[in-house]
Amino acid sequence: MEGWPYNGLTMKELLKNLIQAETTSEKGEIAAAEVISVEFQRSGIDSGIDNWDQTRANIVAHIKSAGSRAGLLFACHLDVVGPGEAPWKHPPFTAVESDGKIYGRGSVDMKGGTTAAVTAIRRIVDSGVKLQGDIIFAAVAGEETDSVGARRFVHDKGRLPGLAGVVIPEPTDFEIVTAHRGMLWLEVTTKGKAAHSSAPRLGVNAINSMRLILNELNSYEIKVEPHKLLGACSMSVNIIAGGKTMNVVPDKCSIGIDIRTIPGQDHQAIIADLQKILDKLRTGNKQFEASVSVRRQVKSMETDCSSEFVQDFCSVVGTDKTKAVGYTTDGPYFASLGGPVVIFGPGKPHLCHKPAEYIDISDLEKGVEYYKNIILKFLT
Ligand SMILES: [Zn+2]
Repeated sequence: MEGWPYNGLTMKELLKNLIQAETTSEKGEIAAAEVISVEFQRSGIDSGIDNWDQTRANIVAHIKSAGSRAGLLFACHLDVVGPGEAPWKHPPFTAVESDGKIYGRGSVDMKGGTTAAVTAIRRIVDSGVKLQGDIIFAAVAGEETDSVGARRFVHDKGRLPGLAGVVIPEPTDFEIVTAHRGMLWLEVTTKGKAAHSSAPRLGVNAINSMRLILNELNSYEIKVEPHKLLGACSMSVNIIAGGKTMNVVPDKCSIGIDIRTIPGQDHQAIIADLQKILDKLRTGNKQFEASVSVRRQVKSMETDCSSEFVQDFCSVVGTDKTKAVGYTTDGPYFASLGGPVVIFGPGKPHLCHKPAEYIDISDLEKGVEYYKNIILKFLT
């Protein structure tokens, strides 16, 4: 909003500074955490930065209240994916404003939502309204890679009050998302024995061993009834690597498998199933050697749509519709704190991770209004 009476950053400048902080996994989150800390300070809000490995950071602000109602947690992530190979019309980390939009990596996922949440919290605090429940704001590291920041945050949950609910300001274009699938990334590696390939019988070809596994996976199906909102579990082999030189029998080959799971599925059971396939291949072939390891996993998430939190949230937004999505978030980690989790924020989800990512400035303002109304609904 032009002319908003702050000497501090305007909302647009906050978003631009966050984009310019370039929080890829290489650079880390510390610069963005500092931007938010300064921004909160302008409204007299103290925040704490949890900093590790030099560049990694979470930031948490806790606005205390009379405490007669349960609190509300806004859970954001600071990191972004890299800009990718495709050319960008506007450089990804300069935060160019044009035609009512701000362009840049992270503008949608999720520095736009983070900006709207920080701004809404500032405006509530500056208005002097008496809160009956605490606001907790967290923006964490590593959501796009290994959820390290979310895990650090929930690990230290003792200091948190009871929660009425958790709002994740990821871009949903203001749709209320209450469920998503889980993710299980597995690496399967075969071991062989190197030999000069003029005499391949002297070696064990790890690529041949992998071929046996791929043949098995071709007909393998994870047995589970489709979920009523999220549909089926899916599996896709997306990486293969093996062999180094044209004249050497390869002694190692590995594949990466992306499995998307639905509520009720046990990740351990899927791994055990896969292990059985490897054991079976080993029984028929003593030279066959393979192992499976977990590269990353995120649980699925399902919030009860009939819960009071979701119902009240819907009434603030003015809809009775909730939605399930295919992508994952840090939501399951925050759900472990005990409050129902809703994903809701500004920005078009299809622009996530794309070149020319942008957010409409009008959506930022809309986001601030929704978040303010949500705070007033649950905490006053
Ligand atoms: Zn995100």
